[in-house]
This record gives sequence, C-alpha cells and structure tokens, in this order.
Amino acid sequence: MSNEGWNLEYTYTQLPEFFYRRQRPEPALAPKMVIFNHDLAAELGLNADVLRDNAEVFAGSRLPEAGCVPISQAYAGYQFGHFTMLGDGRAVLLGEQRTPPSPTAPNGHLFDIQLKGSGPTAFSRGGDGYAALGPMLREYIISEALHALGIPTTRSLAVVSTGRGVIRERILTGAVLTRVAASHIRVGTFNYAAAFGSPEDVRALTDYTIRRHFPDLEHAENKYARFFRAVCERQASLIAKWQSVGFIHGVMNTDNMAVSGETIDFGPCAFMDTYDPDTVFSSIDTQGRYAYKNQPAIGAWNLSRLAESLAPFLTMAQAKEAVAHYREHHEAHWLVCMRIKLGMTREGADDKMIINEFLDEMKREGKDFTNTFRAVSKRNPAVIPRNHRVEEALSAADEGDLTVMRDLLEVLRKPYEENADYMQPPECGCGYRTFCGT
Ligand code: AMP
Ligand code: MG
Repeated sequence: MSNEGWNLEYTYTQLPEFFYRRQRPEPALAPKMVIFNHDLAAELGLNADVLRDNAEVFAGSRLPEAGCVPISQAYAGYQFGHFTMLGDGRAVLLGEQRTPPSPTAPNGHLFDIQLKGSGPTAFSRGGDGYAALGPMLREYIISEALHALGIPTTRSLAVVSTGRGVIRERILTGAVLTRVAASHIRVGTFNYAAAFGSPEDVRALTDYTIRRHFPDLEHAENKYARFFRAVCERQASLIAKWQSVGFIHGVMNTDNMAVSGETIDFGPCAFMDTYDPDTVFSSIDTQGRYAYKNQPAIGAWNLSRLAESLAPFLTMAQAKEAVAHYREHHEAHWLVCMRIKLGMTREGADDKMIINEFLDEMKREGKDFTNTFRAVSKRNPAVIPRNHRVEEALSAADEGDLTVMRDLLEVLRKPYEENADYMQPPECGCGYRTFCGT
C-alpha cells in the first residue's frame, strides 16, 4: 500500500474486454485542488493529509500506483425512452479501492474511484470528454447532501480544476470530479450486454454484479430471478427516499440507474421548494417524463428494460412478479417514510389517504415542502440544498471564492439542525431550470 493509502483492485477488468476499453486519463495542464472530501478519504482508508494537496492524481496527471489499469466502461441506455449506445464518454475508472476491515465488513468494501471530465475516451462520440467546474461542484454539493440525508448515493472525493478552458456556450473552467461509487454498473450496462453481446456476456455481467452487490445470492437457487428482485427492491426504496425529501433526479434514463441502488448522475437534479408533484427542473424534459410524481413509474419502466436484458435467465412470470413486487415495495417504503414525516406513530388502514390529503392540501396552498414537514415533526430535515443557495455557491466559486460553498457544505452535513439562513425558501422559486449538457 502506498503512503497515499491506495489499496486498489481491478476486478472489472476480469470481465470480457467487451465491457470496457483501457483508457489513460489525459494529464491536466495545471491541476489545482478546488475541494477535497477529507472525511470520505478517511472512510476509504486513504491518507487524507497526503492526498489533500495532491491535485495531480485527481486530475489524471499521475496514476495512483504503478500497476494501475484505468478503463472506460461500455454501456448503453434508454434515454427518454430511446435506446442509444453510450459508455464513459468523459470518465475513467482508476480502480476499485478496498476499504479497511471493520467489525461488520471483515474484508472491507470495494468502491469505484472514477475520474469524470478527464478527457476523451473511446466512447466520447461527439463530446470533448471534459467537464466544467460549476457542474462538478454541483454534483459534489448534491451528492454529499443526499449522503448526509441518509440516501444511498455515489459520493464526491475531490474536484480539481485542470487549467484547461472548456468550450460550452462560453469558455468555462475545466475540472475533474473524483466520483466514488459502490460500482458504476448501470441498468444500461445490462442493456448494452443484451443488445451487443452474447447471452454469455449477460451471464458474466450478472454473475459479477451478484458477487459484488448481492453476495448472499451467489449460491442461491434461482439466483438470476432473485437478483432481479433484489435490484427492484433497492430501486423501490431509493425512489421512495428521494420522494420523502422532495428530490427530483431529472434524468432517469436507464444509463443513470445504478443496480447497486445508489443515486447516480446529478446533471439536472434538484430539490423542490414549493410542493407540486408535477415539478420538472430539467430544461430538456419538456414532456415531464421525469417529473417528481412520475419517478416511481419510471423506476418500474426502467426495471422492465432490465428484465428484458436478463431475458435468457429470467422467465416472463419471474420478471412480472418482481416488477409487481417493486410497486408494492415502493408503496410500503413510501408509507414508512411518510408516516415518519407526519409523525404518525401507529399504522392505520387510512394512512395512505391521510398522507395524500395532507399532500393535496400542501399543493393547494403552495406550501414549501421541507419547511412544512419540518414544522410537523422534528424528525424531518431542516436544511436541503436549496437551488438558490446552490447557485449562489457556484457563482462565488466561479469567481474564485470557495467560502460560500464551504459554508453551505458545512450546513448540509447536519441536515436536521436548524439554520434559519439556509431554511429560507427563495423569494420566487418559479422557473428554476437545470441542464443536462454539463
Ligand atoms: P449524462 O447526460 O451525463 O448521463 O451523459 C450521457 C452520455 O453522454 C454518457 O455516455 C456520457 O459519457 C456522455 N457525455 C456527457 N458529456 C460528455 C462530454 N463532454 N464528452 C463526451 N461524452 C460526454
Ligand atoms: Mg449519465
């Protein structure tokens, strides 16, 4: 192990080469650390004090270790319903960090360490392979906020600026985000294997995913059906948790759904201020396909695309049963979350009706989602990353002032602690727009 604490494995490269391409990140011109996640580094077993001043490794200018095998992963996806070949167009997986052993995990855990924005890859298609500072900081803020809210999510270890200008509508500061994920295996990875590979490729990917995320199923009977059911359960509870904090993912394409059950891809996502189930922030989601209220149904749609990709190993009946189970599990989990939010201590037959009446009333009165629930029970979060606060932090960062973002991050770490400044809804929350093309 290096003095930086890297303890990397490269298990994904044991899959057939069909699933990835070897890809060195492009060295940055002038890497500079913008923000470093000390706590996450420590959780990963990394030497935070050594790495915090080491922008090179997080910019792709230097590989973490001599034997490093960086790769870009292949995947496809249904984007707004349409099947497309995709892949890591601007991301490189450096390796998988094995965390130190703990009483609950004697072998530690494995986390993907991925650079996002580190230059073109075999999957870049028309894109430049780069990322701009603002959207990478936005992902950092929102992913860390979700984590603090107890919602499964990929996390952000560092953002460095690269010294390269990135051409968008105007020239922006280039940046690389280091993303940490239980894995980057997406529903779209299965869509890719099924569309372009053989049934043996699908099997290899499924076996790998089971080993990595559902090891209890490895020797189970009907393991593929049980795997699919387990993925359905994780998505069901994830989406219920999003709903419970007013989170709108915004681009729930199958390539943006991780089978681990973590939230992934923070392009157009945002938290709602005023409660309205039709809320959509994404500028390109003109039909409201990924509106707040549609998220559970889209989850089911995406899981059906996963079932199709698993077809050689899953009967139609098993697939249908699991998707039905997804719906039930989602509703049950949603009820659990909402009962807590409303301070309902006992279960009753009318709970769903009572909760929906409360929500309808909130909508009619144009109430703020977070503050209304906070007023009902002290078990609700007081602070979420409100859009105007996030924008304010990003604007200051763009001017070279990171203090606004650091203050925001500090508050978001403890979402249950009241902080009047950060609880204030925007004067006019209407018309907030987010963008995918980041
Ligand atoms: P996303 O909207 O982040 O889910 O990305 C969808 C696809 O576009 C993925 O295959 C990305 O790798 C790719 N992509 C996004 N931005 C870029 C870029 N600047 N250069 C190359 N590929 C990109
Ligand atoms: Mg994506």
